[in-house]
Amino acid sequence: MLRQPLEEGRVSISRASRSVVFPARFMLVAAMNPCPCGYLGDEVRQCRCTADQIQRYQSRISGPLRDRIDLVIRVPPVPVTTDTLAQPGESSVRVRERVLQARERQAARQDAVGVRVNAGLTGRAVWRHCAPDGRGRRLLDEAVRRLGLSARALDRVLKVARTIADLEGVEEVRGPHVAEALQYRTDL
Ligand SMILES: [Zn+2]
Repeated sequence: MLRQPLEEGRVSISRASRSVVFPARFMLVAAMNPCPCGYLGDEVRQCRCTADQIQRYQSRISGPLRDRIDLVIRVPPVPVTTDTLAQPGESSVRVRERVLQARERQAARQDAVGVRVNAGLTGRAVWRHCAPDGRGRRLLDEAVRRLGLSARALDRVLKVARTIADLEGVEEVRGPHVAEALQYRTDL
């Protein structure tokens, strides 16, 4: 049921006599375990699940829904040491600044097509604004061959790569941006 609102930013509800369309533009953030016991890929604890159990568990997220999730990131447990507690990392205020700048770049570049964020680009506008350099193109061709990326997935990779370049303050989408974007599509 999430598929339509994710794709179109609206949801239509049909009942016997009529149907109504509501706006539904949102950001989906979801978390799941890699397997039923939760320790698949853990460096310390052993996963006790069978290959069959793992496959069944992961297939509960359908392919088409998965295709519409742009960033899939494995989050390993954070080791609790005095070091990690003493160094909290980059502050949210600084990250926010970077994000705002990236959004401004997008809005300025795409003003003519009336799409203020990369995620909203569709059809030919994707290639017009997100076309990568030669190295990026070769990486994409390779990914299509090896991972069997669909046209929709390819569009999404391009928009993520464009956004990574924007966060870096770079106008051209280059190989490393495409490589990073592809990394977020790999399976658990
Ligand atoms: Zn397990």
